[in-house]
Amino acid sequence: MSRRDGLPDMRYIRALSLPRKDPSAGRVLVHNHVIRTPTTVSGDRGFRAWTQNKTRDVVRCRCGWAPDVTTHYRVRVTPYSPAMTQLEVDRLIAADERRAP
Ligand SMILES: [Zn+2]
Repeated sequence: MSRRDGLPDMRYIRALSLPRKDPSAGRVLVHNHVIRTPTTVSGDRGFRAWTQNKTRDVVRCRCGWAPDVTTHYRVRVTPYSPAMTQLEVDRLIAADERRAP
């Protein structure tokens, strides 16, 4: 079911659990950009998963996460590269602060 305001009707996967079955008809399983393994549970180190009605903000994902689920999606836009390490982020922030007046 869609919300009247057009936002996806998100329902988070229960904390520290891994989805084992396909979402109900009309809904898709989605996760965020946080680095994961096939069995990473929702809530681990910022990794989050939920179901929602499909919108243009999600893309099909083939990362291998939740292998019992036929198809899942991830958010289309990532706020930063998951390949970036904390050290690289710290360097960028420090460089940015040096440039600031
Ligand atoms: Zn994935």
